[in-house]
Amino acid sequence: MVLLAGFLTRDFNPEPVNIAIQPLGAVSARTQKAIKSRLEKTYFATVTLLPAKALPKEALYPPRSRYRADRLLTILAKNPKFDKIIGITNVDISTTKPPYQDWGVFGLGQLGQKSCVVSDFRLHKRGAITTTERLCRVAIHEIGHTLGLDHCPTPKCTMSDAKGALKTVDDETGFCALCRRRAKAIR
Ligand SMILES: [Zn+2]
Ligand SMILES: [Zn+2]
Repeated sequence: MVLLAGFLTRDFNPEPVNIAIQPLGAVSARTQKAIKSRLEKTYFATVTLLPAKALPKEALYPPRSRYRADRLLTILAKNPKFDKIIGITNVDISTTKPPYQDWGVFGLGQLGQKSCVVSDFRLHKRGAITTTERLCRVAIHEIGHTLGLDHCPTPKCTMSDAKGALKTVDDETGFCALCRRRAKAIR
């Protein structure tokens, strides 16, 4: 009975999460569609592609010509219509990661918050998988944070902290069993 109950909880899950994808600046239609499809396959989610918007000037960090990811999160979260909203861009994005005042990142999402953002700026190096595949993985990871998943110590789990290393992203094989149990919205 207990097993069956567990099974039912997973399969009769829930209200789908309503996710919007907000391109910031020029992002190819192919990339947008790839991320939409992967988020739909990964989560119980309805995913909407929004028309692109220009990068907000107030998020620019002039000393490094980068955009501050934390400011982008605040701006994205103002959209009232969706449960979660993910910004996609190809400019460099950064956040404060002590002792670094301005640390370039693949993406940023905060636990249980509404918005996250990803960039392919740092994902282009030649390697085992394509830039688009990496961007999809980073998008799934950042949405995972917004759904309450913290970094996970299980090797190759989607929620591994990449710490700026592409290899960590390239080696990921999906969510570990523990992360799957923790986030009901994972398929
Ligand atoms: Zn993370
Ligand atoms: Zn995990």
